[in-house]
Amino acid sequence: MTVTSRSAKPTHSKSAPVLTKSKPTTPPNLEGDLKRLKLPTFLAEYSSLCAQCSHEDATYTDYLSRLAIAELSQRDSKAFQRRINAAKLPAQKELSDFDFKAIPSLHKQKMLELARCGFIEERTNIVMVGPPGVGKTHLANSLLLSACRTGYRGRFFTASEIVNTYREAREDRVVSRLEASLKKLDLIVIDELGHLPIDRAGAESLFGFFSLGYEQVSVIVTTNLPFAQWPQTFAGDQRMTGALVDRLTHRVEILAIDGDSYRLKQSRKSKS
Ligand code: ADP
Ligand code: MG
Repeated sequence: MTVTSRSAKPTHSKSAPVLTKSKPTTPPNLEGDLKRLKLPTFLAEYSSLCAQCSHEDATYTDYLSRLAIAELSQRDSKAFQRRINAAKLPAQKELSDFDFKAIPSLHKQKMLELARCGFIEERTNIVMVGPPGVGKTHLANSLLLSACRTGYRGRFFTASEIVNTYREAREDRVVSRLEASLKKLDLIVIDELGHLPIDRAGAESLFGFFSLGYEQVSVIVTTNLPFAQWPQTFAGDQRMTGALVDRLTHRVEILAIDGDSYRLKQSRKSKS
């Protein structure tokens, strides 16, 4: 069967669908109908694709299928863009931009495996520990980007941002609404834990956050502090910190990212 915009009689094989010649009862309003059906790519593409399919002697089914594929791929890329915007990534750093030679202790294969997002399905957490400038934020960014690309919903927070978000929600008495929205996510990054000391209320918020996400949402934490020093971040509360670390590390990948600051190395290189 040939898709044609001309009046040439199509020849069809037995398996090809046959269009009847019955007249529509109302005058055709294809463009209006496609708008009502919310098929913007059909609307934008149907005419040029019709000419192309006609030229290629494609079947009606092929024509329809190509339109459907175009519509779906447009929808997928818009949904991906929406997930990226909602994730509030500070930068779009990719794993492919990461120089693994700079951190020999970090296995590239391990990171590529994590980027396939199996850890999200298993509700495994990731803790990246290391000094400043070694690429922890870059790696967390790229894992969240991979998650968005795979279809997961995520959100990037610095530790101070999540603490402030909780504080504002507490002031507005909407903590349960905030927590309900966090629970809907698949992956949450908490960047720079330990960079700034957190007061008692902030520490309790973080404790609440980690309890909330426990076995429900995967969390990536980046920090410059080994676990032994975490109490100093959580208002000196050993017991609460212990319980928090317990939950966080129940199912966890700990990535020790040791090395020299990449930024520093780059700036030294450019000066020499
Ligand atoms: P950290 O979070 O560990 O302090 P960042 O991820 O912020 O470090 O890295 C600082 C800068 O250096 C960023 O621009 C990051 O993209 C870059 N960077 C760090 N390590 C690497 C690396 N191994 N390969 C490529 N870029 C890197
Ligand atoms: Mg960082």
